[in-house]
Amino acid sequence: MINHRKLTYILFVAILSLTIIGYNYWSYKCGYCTLASLLSFSAPAIILIGCNLLAAAVLVVVRLRKKRQDRLGQCDCGENLRNIWLFCPTCGDARKA
Ligand SMILES: [Zn+2]
Repeated sequence: MINHRKLTYILFVAILSLTIIGYNYWSYKCGYCTLASLLSFSAPAIILIGCNLLAAAVLVVVRLRKKRQDRLGQCDCGENLRNIWLFCPTCGDARKA
C-alpha cells in the first residue's frame, strides 16, 4: 500500500523527470544542443551529481543514526531515557513515540 508520503515523493520525482526531459527535448528541437551533448555530462553537471550523492550519503547516515538512537532509547541530545520518562531531563524534549 502506498502512503501519502510515498505518493508525494513519486509525484515529485515524476514531475522533475518530465520537466528535465521536456526541457532537453525543447533544447534539442530548437538546436541549442546536439544528441551528443544531451548524453554527455558537463563540469557543472558532474559537480551537481557529486553534491547530490554526497547529500544522499549524509541523509542515509543521519537516518541510520536516528534509528539507532530510537532503538537505544536515546534523546537527540544523547541522553539515555528510561522507559517511564516522557521528557528528556537534559534538554526537555518530549520522548519520540
Ligand atoms: Zn535530550
